[in-house]
Amino acid sequence: MSALGIDYGGTNTKLLLVDESGAVLARETVSTGTLAELGASVHRFLDTAPAAAQSFAVTVAGTLDPSTGVVRRSANLPWLDGVAPAEVLSESLGVPGVAVQDGEAGAIAEARFGAGRGSDEVFVIVLGTGIAGAHVLSGSVQRGAHGGAGEVGHVPVADNGVTCSCGQVGCLETAIGGQQVGLRWRDRGAENQDASARDVVEAAGSGDEAAVAVLGDAARALGRAILNVSALVDPALIVVGGGVSRSPEWTVEPAVAYARENATFHVVPELRLASLGVWAGAHGAAAVAADTFVGARAQADRP
Ligand SMILES: [Zn+2]
Repeated sequence: MSALGIDYGGTNTKLLLVDESGAVLARETVSTGTLAELGASVHRFLDTAPAAAQSFAVTVAGTLDPSTGVVRRSANLPWLDGVAPAEVLSESLGVPGVAVQDGEAGAIAEARFGAGRGSDEVFVIVLGTGIAGAHVLSGSVQRGAHGGAGEVGHVPVADNGVTCSCGQVGCLETAIGGQQVGLRWRDRGAENQDASARDVVEAAGSGDEAAVAVLGDAARALGRAILNVSALVDPALIVVGGGVSRSPEWTVEPAVAYARENATFHVVPELRLASLGVWAGAHGAAAVAADTFVGARAQADRP
């Protein structure tokens, strides 16, 4: 049974065909287009692949109704709003498919095949423009009763007094979200009005005191978030990925040190950096496809 993972990104789409053991049979990156264009790209990909796909999963960058597979809103791929992409692709490809939220696919992949491999209970934090979190238990994301679990970006842990996009004050995202790091540097008097997190890291490396202070605030907020995750979830392992984690000496490492120094009853688990890079979403999607359809078949075969 081979499964196809489609990571339908804002710019590029990654296609990954795996066998039943999860070994990669073929992979390709194509430019992102409409669903009809994606269907044509997948047909071309499978024509030259060494095996046929028996099922697929497609990631959605946006909010998804998990019971119907209909996209509620996708900021980057607006033609998906109100559409069930897996249904459309399934008709074109002639095999069953399912949609999965992109952050969820990436978290599943990191927990099962990446940095979390071997641990049954993993909390994944992705430090991007926004902050995503997912509690992955035995390879599945725990969504909570209303689909809102894991929102670690919106735990109030920063002392900056900044109102977050969610309306609360001092969320983790206001301290360490990709663009927010640049804004906090500006708040401290930096002249660069559109600084990225990378700019702030470079300035800190050159001794800019405001940049060092901004990253210190960011690391402290992340450290407090790690304590909150430990208190509420008590995972065996925390995996951290995303652009802001690529300078761990300024962010992740001091955050873990803060958490260990300030832990009281908490057991601060081992923290590892994500390891799958840009293919995580496609790996996670392929795993979801195999779980969904092979799992369903296995159950149907039972007496
Ligand atoms: Zn918030």
